Amino acid sequence: MVHLKTPEELQRIRESAAILGKAHAEVARLIRPGVKTKVLDERAEEVIRDMGAIPSFKNYRGFPACLCISVNEVVVHGFPGSHELKDTDIVSVDCGVQYKGYHSDSAYTYPLEKVSQPVLDLLNRTLDALYLGIGQARKGNRVGDIGFAVQSYVEQFGYGVVRELVGHGVGKSLHEDPEVPNYGKQGKGSKLVAGMVIAIEPMINMGTRGVVQERDGWTIRTSDRKPSAHFEHTVAILDDRTEILTTHEELETCYEYKWRSKSR
Ligand code: MG
Ligand code: MG
Repeated sequence: MVHLKTPEELQRIRESAAILGKAHAEVARLIRPGVKTKVLDERAEEVIRDMGAIPSFKNYRGFPACLCISVNEVVVHGFPGSHELKDTDIVSVDCGVQYKGYHSDSAYTYPLEKVSQPVLDLLNRTLDALYLGIGQARKGNRVGDIGFAVQSYVEQFGYGVVRELVGHGVGKSLHEDPEVPNYGKQGKGSKLVAGMVIAIEPMINMGTRGVVQERDGWTIRTSDRKPSAHFEHTVAILDDRTEILTTHEELETCYEYKWRSKSR
């Protein structure tokens, strides 16, 4: 069942998203070679709790941390831990915040400074695909329009679109209906109506679309062990426009390596 949000509920999700943006920014300041991924998690939790909010992921169905940190071939749901980032790594940081009972959810994949151009291309194109998907997320369109926009764009580069994991509604629950796949057919799927809040989150693999789950029951990695990129925004479908509720602006300001401009 899809829960449509009232203007008051939307305002709470905006506030939640503002806190989330600050948490991402504080994590971005720390990303550099040699940092352990658990340090990023500890900082995010501190920032979120200091602002009176709750990390959505911690203890969600038993997830042990505040961030999902997914390095290189890990697609999503990686555990923060003792891995020290290397200058050739890419690292996806996915975070959710609950504030006044409402969640927001966003993710960003950072390249460290010696990541190769083909992998930078994967990140740039996955981020472009996120915005192409958001461009289709408007009243009167259907969920399949979003998936089609993402899939048709990235597949021209030979990339694989992960099928097993999808975007989702966001609100009082972290994961609500509808499901928002990153593949699909134009004009198919649930209709998008004003008041819907959804997370759009392309997970795009350099190689095959196949993924496997590690024995920890959470970590999802590519079956060919090639890298995977993940970017996510929570957006609201409104009567006259679509509002991107979460932000990457602050984290991009705080991250030292200005990869996005360099690689264009
Ligand atoms: Mg997320
Ligand atoms: Mg999500």
